[in-house]
Amino acid sequence: LSKDQIVIKDKSIKKNGMPPISTLPVEEILKSYLTTLDLDNCETESDNAFFVADLGEIYRQHLRWKTNLPRVEPFYAVKCNTDLTLLRLLAALGTGFDCASKSEIKTILDMGIDPSKIIYANPCKQSSFIRFAAEHDVKMMTFDNAEELRKIKRFFPNAQLVIRILTDDSKALIKLGTKFGASLNNTGFLLQTARDLGLSVIGVSFHVGSGCYDENAYIDAIHRARFVFDQATELGFNFHLLDVGGGFSFSHKSDDGISFEKIAALLGPAIDKYFPPNIRVIAEPGRYYAAPAFTIATHIIAKRTVRRDIEEEYIPNMNADQNDVSPTGDDHPAFMYYINDGLYGAFNCILYDHQLVTPKVLMKGGNFLFGETLDEPEYSCFIWGPTCDSIDCITKNGSLPELLPGDWLYFEEMGAYTIAAATKFNGFKQSKIIYTTTEPHVLDVLSL
Ligand code: PLP
Repeated sequence: LSKDQIVIKDKSIKKNGMPPISTLPVEEILKSYLTTLDLDNCETESDNAFFVADLGEIYRQHLRWKTNLPRVEPFYAVKCNTDLTLLRLLAALGTGFDCASKSEIKTILDMGIDPSKIIYANPCKQSSFIRFAAEHDVKMMTFDNAEELRKIKRFFPNAQLVIRILTDDSKALIKLGTKFGASLNNTGFLLQTARDLGLSVIGVSFHVGSGCYDENAYIDAIHRARFVFDQATELGFNFHLLDVGGGFSFSHKSDDGISFEKIAALLGPAIDKYFPPNIRVIAEPGRYYAAPAFTIATHIIAKRTVRRDIEEEYIPNMNADQNDVSPTGDDHPAFMYYINDGLYGAFNCILYDHQLVTPKVLMKGGNFLFGETLDEPEYSCFIWGPTCDSIDCITKNGSLPELLPGDWLYFEEMGAYTIAAATKFNGFKQSKIIYTTTEPHVLDVLSL
């Protein structure tokens, strides 16, 4: 049984180069694939790791955005996950796109999307990319330094510029302020330089940092943006665009941490208070849309049992930065599982995006266990990726029931900054995606 057959069994559609899209729940897709996979006879690579993408999740995230931040137009940050089906759905839902490079701009334009729906939101751009934007009428672009202004003057003097300002990103997983953003001490000089060059600056953008965990960061940024709007008015500019960037949490858990609703409840009123209705407000969410829609299933391809009594040299290392969670104490062997996607693949998010991922048992001894808690003792374990590099470690701190090669693990919320930066190092392919939608309306949206 191939992955394609699963989806074709259900309400499958294939049109305009779109992949088949099922309407089965994610659990059913995983179940029908894994319970029929015969490890003795299956085709090579049909036991590869794979994603299931629920497009319904993206659709629901969009409705959630529209409900909570109706004034703010989302321009999805393409870098977060460049999957074409995801992009096509977002385009059909009417979002704009934040592109970081020529290639991202081309991807969006090739989908037939109007250039006005793009913001080229990279403050430091290659000259030929600026020319490409000019040739394709992608006018909106950010800057945060005077040299960029001179480059834009030379290659795209009619661009509509957005000044990217520095904000407090101390409450974010990924701090972007060390690399980008003009400080408020410098914005006056930059605006004056733009004025002297005869360039059109139309507004302000900021980014509070990716994975922002304090909603107040947005409010501080709004105050800074207002300051720069006023500065611009004094210099004779007529700003009409505010870009509140990305960083939006996709979490629903408002009680114990940040949630999108918490951010929206502060940000929406602050925008209304400081920016009159004639100011267009956009945002550049990435993680918010992409993360919750993707689940990855990985196969345990190998296992090593490290006996604490005879392989002592491993044990100090293993326990150096972890708590030993073995219920049977230090004399129990430690387990090392090797799965078939890793740090050089989708799990690069651990390295680049500072993510902690949570393995869950999907299949054990032929039993499908999605969403179930096993009534079995758990043991401390390492989980490694498939390459021959020892950096390729998913966790040194796992706690799982004892598993065997042939069992499967799954990891949820794996759509952001995963596939987009995956490599093929050591000859391992990027994990493929099976599409489904738990929101049937998505098929109408996509005109399928
Ligand atoms: N906009 C810009 C300019 C970015 O650099 C990023 C991420 O790095 C984003 C938007 C998306 O951020 P997030 O995925 O946190 O929403």
